[in-house]
Amino acid sequence: MPSKLDPIPYGKHHIDQDDIDSVVDVLLNRFLTQGDRVPAFENALCEYTKAKFSTAVNSATSGLHVACLALGVGPGDIVWTVPNSFVASANCALYCGASVDFVDIDPVTRNMSVDLLAEKLTNAAQKGVLPKAIIPVHFSGLSCQMDQISALAKQYEVKIIEDAAHGLGGRFKDTKIGSCEYCDIAVLSFHPVKSMTTAEGGAVMTNSPKLDAKIKLFAKHGITKDPAQMKSEVHGPWYYQQIELGYNYRLSDLQAALGLSQLNKLDEFIAKRRNLAARYQQFLSDLPLTLPTIDANCKSAWHLYMLELQGHDRKEIYDAMVMRGIGVNVHYIPIHLQPYFQNLGFSTGDFPNSEKFYKNALTIPLFPSMTADDQDRVIQALNEVLA
Ligand SMILES: *Cc1c(COP(=O)(O)O)cnc(C)c1O
Repeated sequence: MPSKLDPIPYGKHHIDQDDIDSVVDVLLNRFLTQGDRVPAFENALCEYTKAKFSTAVNSATSGLHVACLALGVGPGDIVWTVPNSFVASANCALYCGASVDFVDIDPVTRNMSVDLLAEKLTNAAQKGVLPKAIIPVHFSGLSCQMDQISALAKQYEVKIIEDAAHGLGGRFKDTKIGSCEYCDIAVLSFHPVKSMTTAEGGAVMTNSPKLDAKIKLFAKHGITKDPAQMKSEVHGPWYYQQIELGYNYRLSDLQAALGLSQLNKLDEFIAKRRNLAARYQQFLSDLPLTLPTIDANCKSAWHLYMLELQGHDRKEIYDAMVMRGIGVNVHYIPIHLQPYFQNLGFSTGDFPNSEKFYKNALTIPLFPSMTADDQDRVIQALNEVLA
């Protein structure tokens, strides 16, 4: 009887003994914050992604905020992202006093549509209302078409922040997501459902030393100890100056230690996700479902495995799966349909591809420690509820 088995969550972190040892080592032997684990973690992230600079922060949400600040986003500016994302992708612009707008998704990749972006940029250029930055999101771990997006951004002199919260461990062509090969700044998340975890946490990656200095400034109270950045002479070794209005967005060393041990296992986690995804692709192919696309240019990090129903009522299928102990979920309620964004002037019908995707989307369980038996239960349940 399936109901007697433990429910299978849609996502789950994986912790083992070396993660525990890594954190305990900090508790026993090191500084809890502002010690050596944070810089070690930042260096390891650079080594992994090949980006030149990294700043560990307490969440990707904080990371997106400081990314916008570092690019000078402020009142009067416009930032574009996609409706098919978590609200943090849009809120970062609002935190800076800028306004936000959206580019709809491509129904096949479920990522920012390059064609719609090109069209919207042409129109915005004619009206003199180009965005300061665009924030593409690598939805479910599948990279956006970053070469094309980057070419458009260069043409119109628009900055790019990659919301790579889903993407760490994935690739676009021969670059790792987070490398900043095709963007100004990339932001990673280490929330427990993402590809690796620090409990809460994120990182802001860039290849620009100037942007990196600004990111670090805004993430650490706007305070500098670097004489070159100071407005007047140094009083002594204790001296610091606050030169911007910054925040305390630091990651702790406890978290960075967990990040270091998790990062060692990241490729293994991704390989497990990839194998499970391949099994879903195989065993779900005969059901009335639209499965994720496989793009030969990208190696997905498989953060989420998302189905689209083809005519079945989503609420009914959702409830029937939950009754069978399968932790399904829905990603995402289009941001522009949230009451807060409706108050800013957005309406139903503004971004039809994202709205249609939302109507039929269903996320099914996928996480590194998922067993073939777990997965067979999910496949069996889908066969039953779609029959
Ligand atoms: C999870 C997520 C975020 C926010 O990440 P936190 O680390 O939880 O702040 C931002 N954008 C996307 C697309 C996400 O999925």
